[in-house]
Amino acid sequence: MLRVLGMKYPVHERFYTWQGEGVHLGRAAYFVRLYGCPQACPWCDSAGTWHPAYRPASVSLLDASEITRAVAEESPDGALVVVTGGEPILFDLRPLTDELHRLGRRIHIETSGIAPLRGDLDWVALSPKPAGQRPLPEVVARADEVKIIVHEPGDIAAGLGTLAGLREDATVWLHPEWSRARDGDRAVLDAITAAVKANPRLRAGYQMHKLYRAD
Ligand code: SF4
Repeated sequence: MLRVLGMKYPVHERFYTWQGEGVHLGRAAYFVRLYGCPQACPWCDSAGTWHPAYRPASVSLLDASEITRAVAEESPDGALVVVTGGEPILFDLRPLTDELHRLGRRIHIETSGIAPLRGDLDWVALSPKPAGQRPLPEVVARADEVKIIVHEPGDIAAGLGTLAGLREDATVWLHPEWSRARDGDRAVLDAITAAVKANPRLRAGYQMHKLYRAD
């Protein structure tokens, strides 16, 4: 099978912690945060992964073997590997997922779905950003769970509007954007409650790692 040789990934940061949200909440996870994202969400809580001011000081170019070695040294067998960003779907992840699978790890991706998936992913968490580029239908169809970030009540309908073709068994979360949750924004929290009560397929979510400060 054709594979990309010499692929280097711009790693903004990597750390061992636990998954703070979604279906796999609370599970031990090694995060690999890649640099680069064209979405520029105004409320982004990881702007260090795309703002030009951060790049010179914060990005290491590592190949799949170097990342896999770090995962093996810094987390025990059984810990998930979560590839996030930034926008990790911009990169050809096949070399990395091949090596991590040889290590025996399950690999998750967190993405806004704006490009074809390249890599053997065990779990796809899609977070659509309808104010920017919308997710590709092929990524929506592949998603195992969806996290809609609710900064304004209208974000619920906008996010749901990107999900044509989503599998029936995919979980759909409504997460209050972090500053809205922190401030107890009633408009956002009440809109999530109303949406879940009106459509039991939806689930109200929370970014638990913000509470624990686990990252
Ligand atoms: Fe930040 Fe994610 Fe939006 Fe990119 S898609 S700007 S990383 S919140």
